Amino acid sequence: MSAATSSAEVVGEESKKPVCLIILGMAGAGKTSFTRRLAGNVTDGARPYLINLDPACREVSYPANIDIRDTVDYKEVMKQYGLGPNGGIVTALNLFSTKFGQVVDLIEKAGKKHKYCVIDTPGQIEVFTWSASGTIITEALASSCPTVVVYVMDTVRSVSPVTFMSNMLYACSILYKTRLPFIIVMNKTDVVDNSYAVEWMRDFEAFQDALDAEGAGETEGGNTYIGNLTRSMALALDTFYADLRCCGVSAHTGEGIDNFFKLVDEAAEEYEKEYKADWLKMRAEKLEEQKKKEEELKNPKSVDVDAVIHKKSLIDEVPMGREFTDMYLKHPANESSSDEEGTEREPEVDDKPEDVAMFQEFIRKHVKPNNTSNTS
Ligand code: GDP
Ligand code: MG
Repeated sequence: MSAATSSAEVVGEESKKPVCLIILGMAGAGKTSFTRRLAGNVTDGARPYLINLDPACREVSYPANIDIRDTVDYKEVMKQYGLGPNGGIVTALNLFSTKFGQVVDLIEKAGKKHKYCVIDTPGQIEVFTWSASGTIITEALASSCPTVVVYVMDTVRSVSPVTFMSNMLYACSILYKTRLPFIIVMNKTDVVDNSYAVEWMRDFEAFQDALDAEGAGETEGGNTYIGNLTRSMALALDTFYADLRCCGVSAHTGEGIDNFFKLVDEAAEEYEKEYKADWLKMRAEKLEEQKKKEEELKNPKSVDVDAVIHKKSLIDEVPMGREFTDMYLKHPANESSSDEEGTEREPEVDDKPEDVAMFQEFIRKHVKPNNTSNTS
């Protein structure tokens, strides 16, 4: 079914799940402001379902339905675990990710009323993109609901070609890491129009001119190492740019938001067609693996004595007695098996009579019936 469904189709459809938008981007790019702007967008009678995953923000500027701060006190985490602010944020998110199954249940239920679910992430991008918890949360979402990654870029700060390129490389690495439909949101168009960035993506020559104009990486000796690297990167990123969805918006004025939602609907459709099957398969495999582990815990494997103890041949060939005790007494934990020069001496059965007797008894009990004649 097309993501651009009519309200009649969406409301009242019990199994309908909301389209989850994971909002990522560098600190200060405007993720929270953008989430707040999306919060004002009413579709099918409801605004998006809103989730705050930033444990360290002082206040949440939108009416969050789920707020990580209600579950984890990041300052207490810092105290209890003896961590600084960054460690506190990462650990708080790790703790929260262990509860994310419950969050997914709530999101799925929210689908009855909300067409979209917006997930605002911590200020520092790496807290989410380079952490186990970020992966757990992304996988949990993507294997349950249509999920789209929204990368918010600061259009004002990216006017330098080199900064623009770094931003794009980061976006590209997230795209390949998450394997989900992707939208780049060029934010703050109320200050700088994003047309320059679109041009750089579509026209390599234009980007190169901008790079030359900036004299990127040039030194007095004319060394253009950074410039050359950026040029090569730009060529390599051509494939990344080719099918990339991007739009300019202003979280402050609301400009470009309608166009953004059109791209979201396209991306949600792409999820259904191209990504959903893989994610469902992955979820089924994980569930199967989990079930197996639970079974193993319930019924610990009994030891296969025949496999552990060799040995029909040994028992056949060797009469019960010293040879077995010999092996046993040479166990590294048994200090009495070697003398002071380190040479092994003949084991004496009398050294450990009880152990020997126990071992013989063990063998007697566990050797196959057709070998019993040898063990007695
Ligand atoms: P986050 O760290 O990515 O969540 O960024 P914030 O949403 O906290 O925004 C960082 C700063 O950028 C704040 O000072 C915002 O007011 C400002 N900002 C965010 N969006 C816009 C925008 O569309 N236009 C302008 N001019 N400033 C913005
Ligand atoms: Mg924020």
